[in-house]
Amino acid sequence: MSTKVTQTCRDLSELTSAAQLACRLLFQECYKAGIIDIFITETYRSQARQNYLWEQGRSRLYDEKGNKLSKVTWTTTSNHTSRRAWDIAVAPPKNLYDIKTLSKVGAIAKKLGISWGGYWPANNYDAPHFEIPTNWKAPAGYKLEGTVIVPSNSKLKVQLIVKDKGQAIEGVNDGKLYRVQSGTFNKQSQANAAKQALGKYKIANADYVRIVQDGNKWRFITGTYATQAVANNAIAEMKRLGILSYAEAIPV
Ligand SMILES: [Zn+2]
Repeated sequence: MSTKVTQTCRDLSELTSAAQLACRLLFQECYKAGIIDIFITETYRSQARQNYLWEQGRSRLYDEKGNKLSKVTWTTTSNHTSRRAWDIAVAPPKNLYDIKTLSKVGAIAKKLGISWGGYWPANNYDAPHFEIPTNWKAPAGYKLEGTVIVPSNSKLKVQLIVKDKGQAIEGVNDGKLYRVQSGTFNKQSQANAAKQALGKYKIANADYVRIVQDGNKWRFITGTYATQAVANNAIAEMKRLGILSYAEAIPV
């Protein structure tokens, strides 16, 4: 965690455990509603940083280049400092604070008992901001349904990686789940290196990635993704990062 007042922290693990759960549930429900282009821009904020932001546009009116600064916060007692708040933004090609997207996320947050700054009055209005009260609990009917990937940059997409049920494959075989099967690698070590990279970049849960022999070559097969679109998105990430050159999404 940074102690510099000018740096933002995007680490979800810096929030309270309740806030981490709330944030993951929010991203899970967004994913299920088809909203996968949102990412975290700030979580925990030290009081020193909150004070620094408060001064912007008030006692600190210009940056070091002489550009005029405007206010960025309305309070010195933000719930970011009590580890119960997080800010999000929207990935390109949409605007960073695309209000159509943020409004949809806000409506989902409301169902989860999470406060959205977009519902606050004009003098407090804060559309990227979400927070939970101290006594927050997940409402009945909501729980984590798998590993939720909460992106902390605009390049990653929200993902829900549904847990592999092992031998109970018939129980999840509803025709809606997809795995990613790689093209072939010449060496087992290459397939293993790809598996490591998938885990490192959080494209797939490495615990569920299997290396399989195919003739005298090797492939990897991931755990399940909830939809073909998400599996295809994972493939795009694998290609972008150079982990592989060929893969396909296969129905489970
Ligand atoms: Zn905020």
